[in-house]
Amino acid sequence: MSELAATGPSTVDRHHLIELIKRERSLYRANFPASWEAFSAAGQHLLGGVPMTWMRMWSGGYPLYFAAASGARLIDIDGNEFIDFCLGDTGAMAGHSPVAVQEAISRRYGEAGGATTMLPTQDAAWVGAELARRFGMQVWSFTLTATDANRWAIRLARQITRRPKILVFSYCYHGSVDESFIVMTPDGPRTRPGNVGAPVDPSQTTRVAEFNDLGGLERELSHGDVAAVLMEPALTNIGIVLPEPGYLDAVRALTRQYGSLLINDETHTFSAGPGGCTAAWGLQPDIVTIGKSIAGGIPAGAFGLTPELAEFILNDSDADIEDTGGVGGTLAGNALSVAAMRATLEEVLTDEAFEGMIEVATRFAAGVQGVLDLHRVPWSVVQLGARVEYRFSPEPPHTGGQSAAAADARLDEYMHLYTINRGVLMTPFHNMALMCPATTEADADSHAAVFAAAVEDLVV
Ligand code: PMP
Repeated sequence: MSELAATGPSTVDRHHLIELIKRERSLYRANFPASWEAFSAAGQHLLGGVPMTWMRMWSGGYPLYFAAASGARLIDIDGNEFIDFCLGDTGAMAGHSPVAVQEAISRRYGEAGGATTMLPTQDAAWVGAELARRFGMQVWSFTLTATDANRWAIRLARQITRRPKILVFSYCYHGSVDESFIVMTPDGPRTRPGNVGAPVDPSQTTRVAEFNDLGGLERELSHGDVAAVLMEPALTNIGIVLPEPGYLDAVRALTRQYGSLLINDETHTFSAGPGGCTAAWGLQPDIVTIGKSIAGGIPAGAFGLTPELAEFILNDSDADIEDTGGVGGTLAGNALSVAAMRATLEEVLTDEAFEGMIEVATRFAAGVQGVLDLHRVPWSVVQLGARVEYRFSPEPPHTGGQSAAAADARLDEYMHLYTINRGVLMTPFHNMALMCPATTEADADSHAAVFAAAVEDLVV
């Protein structure tokens, strides 16, 4: 992409923007020398020089190395302190190392002893019951990641319906699930650009529609070969795209009409409340999947089914769900993850905690909106419970395709560098901010001040 390629707001002078980015890159290099040293030293034996290749997506050319993190605060190895609105891209929505989870883990792994034994502990039934209370799905099974929860939910859906395909929405992200890397283009469905080593062209396994487009959804479902629609009730991985009024009810009605199951992936939309969008908006999916935050940052995921589906799959003599049938993992449901889930749900991400988190998020969103209004910047801000995101389009996008078109890599880079250089950490892949129980109104105000200064420098 050319340095000056602009898809963002016309008010931004691109030459000025490039100058600002240069300034911020120098500042970043000056602010975080120890991270630069660590990154340079790590290179040789790590793919891309990092533990996981997406860590290269941090603006500044190298990631910060962190020394410690607690609640909504993170300290890097140079000793700089940050307000953390990234929160591990939701993995740390409970805040970093909440005391209740620390205690549960040290009890389980330390005093009591044992993480992986192939045997259950009593915590599991408690977690299943709590997830049932929150999300309305009565029967639960555990995974280690949200990706696996989605993979196994898809397998179960195909087994139950005896249908071959799934349907996803353009520009969705559900983890590294082979079937989901497909987008809608003016020329029809296409593999998502950059899809690494796809086993088959995803159009063989997957149908795709634009979010909020009921006509497109019905056209695809009417083929009668879709086992399940896998969706986030609001898209969160291409900015936040909220459902239009009545849309989700219509999705439910259409999936029933055409005999497809409905899977709500609540991994990110859990931010909407203690039972995610499913509870907050009274949705009635057949399956709920979740991961990331539910164990306070310890790897854990889960999927919940209706009793009818659970009964069906348990009684299906063609389905091996116990041994090598493709729905399981040795470490899934391990005692450590389950203990962490229990502590997180029982004591940290409680109903009351969500109330506070959502209040702070509302203040965060208002702070951003105030700056946009003051400077007449044609960007939009969207809130989903404890999650807020701004996007470089005058109106919040209605589809994944529209939201993708509003992306502006240079503006992203500038905003990320500007905020990180001034002690505010946003999610690297987009302009997302998440509140945890420890995030305060003062933190939201600090962001607003830094955001205002970034915008002022931009629009002068
Ligand atoms: N579902 C959604 C909605 C996600 O955003 C993600 C990751 N960003 C996943 C699933 C996969 O999570 P993980 O990478 O932890 O498996």
